[in-house]
Amino acid sequence: MLEKKKKECPSNLPSARIVICFHNEEFNVLFRTVSSVMTLTPQHILEEIILVDDMREFDDLKEKLDYHVENFRGKIKLIRNKKRAGLIRARLTGASRASGDVLMLLDSHCKVTKVWLEPVLNAIAKDPQMGVCPLIDVSDYVTLEYQSSPVVRGAFNWYLQFKRDRDFSYERDGPEGPTRPIWSPAMTGGSCAINRHYFNAIGKYKGINLWGGENLELSLRTWMYGGQLFILPCSRVGHIDKQHFANHTGIVKALVYNNLRLVHIWLDEYKVKDTSLVWIGE
Ligand code: UDP
Ligand code: MN
Repeated sequence: MLEKKKKECPSNLPSARIVICFHNEEFNVLFRTVSSVMTLTPQHILEEIILVDDMREFDDLKEKLDYHVENFRGKIKLIRNKKRAGLIRARLTGASRASGDVLMLLDSHCKVTKVWLEPVLNAIAKDPQMGVCPLIDVSDYVTLEYQSSPVVRGAFNWYLQFKRDRDFSYERDGPEGPTRPIWSPAMTGGSCAINRHYFNAIGKYKGINLWGGENLELSLRTWMYGGQLFILPCSRVGHIDKQHFANHTGIVKALVYNNLRLVHIWLDEYKVKDTSLVWIGE
């Protein structure tokens, strides 16, 4: 944290459009996400927040949300899906309503921190083919207590599950020390940013369904099209890891479909060696 204070970002950063989609999110949790963004992001780099309500099953949120959106005076655009579209299509709907250069995709149960967006914008402004992610800290599911994570890179195993790998000490040796961006094979799902034109050019989340595996899809697309991915240790976002709905049949089906598709499209010789065996064995 001391290092972070010393590091300076240029003043002429681009501004960001932040897309947050949500399905049956707790109102207070969603509101905490949005208000942390509104209060901790300098207004000149926050162009707008695009909220996509992916068909809430209960009505309690609607009026409350309208009221609060109104209070944020023009910075928030609210889109309501008539039918549940799933995370992937809901995010795409949000992204399609954005203009400008930088898209920041954020889960609806996050808490951003001071100086979270500046390093992200700085990195993307330097290299438009760079996908970047804040380092994900943990907000406790029950107490919301904020716990800092160690510096990790994003990776994945042959079950195509996202994994965190510790960085190497030599990666902190240079002049940037612990604030140096960590090269990563995989983006995190809950919070990532990309140049909007590049996102469109590499095919977005084309071909995948509902929920699951979208972070690996976008990661592999980025590097297959010549881009790079980095996790930025000096940008921190707290994410609530839910006690999940992974046994929901539709979700499991979509996840398996998305992963098998990813294997066939992107993994070439590795699919025979490793991944397909793992998936057949599941
Ligand atoms: N979400 C959505 N529609 C869905 C499922 C999820 O809009 O059908 C939203 C969800 O509210 C969250 C984001 O997509 O803001 C990512 O989902 P989740 O947090 O469940 O993924 P995880 O963080 O567990 O990978
Ligand atoms: Mn999440």
